[in-house]
Amino acid sequence: MGNTLANAVMLCSLDATSEFDPMKAAQCACGHVHFDIRARPRFRARCHCTICQRFNQAPFGDIVVFRAGDVDLPPAGTVEYAAYRPPPNVQRGVCSSCAQPVLERFESPLFPKLRFVPAALIDPAELPRVSFDVFYERRVADIDDGLPKYTGYLPSQLAFMKQVLFPPAV
Ligand SMILES: [Zn+2]
Ligand SMILES: [Zn+2]
Repeated sequence: MGNTLANAVMLCSLDATSEFDPMKAAQCACGHVHFDIRARPRFRARCHCTICQRFNQAPFGDIVVFRAGDVDLPPAGTVEYAAYRPPPNVQRGVCSSCAQPVLERFESPLFPKLRFVPAALIDPAELPRVSFDVFYERRVADIDDGLPKYTGYLPSQLAFMKQVLFPPAV
């Protein structure tokens, strides 16, 4: 991790921000939790790990990944956070009123801080297409869409990290 990498990340972030109509709001089903998003997402992926299954009460987590600075944190008290397992350093938040998953905060040393927003909270017009699946070995059902599938902890983590640092041109 040198300056070159940090600079590359910063440049990508600036590019992503420049074309986005700022202040898009994400909102849970009951409306109790709402927060603004200020830049385009980095990417969208499906995670089939058992924690995501449990957290989302679904066969997989369908998450949209943002840089932390691009997502305004919802007002304190509207979201209840819990760490399902340490590490990785992910705080998973649900609406304190309707219990819908609303935001995950990824904060790990030596890595950019990220926010994961469930796809269900994002305006469909702004939603990127899914890039790949991770922890596919835990899948409840096959997904035959031709997208890359990563199995196992390390390949899944690496695919994710690579996409964060070097997202494809949109
Ligand atoms: Zn997961
Ligand atoms: Zn709610």
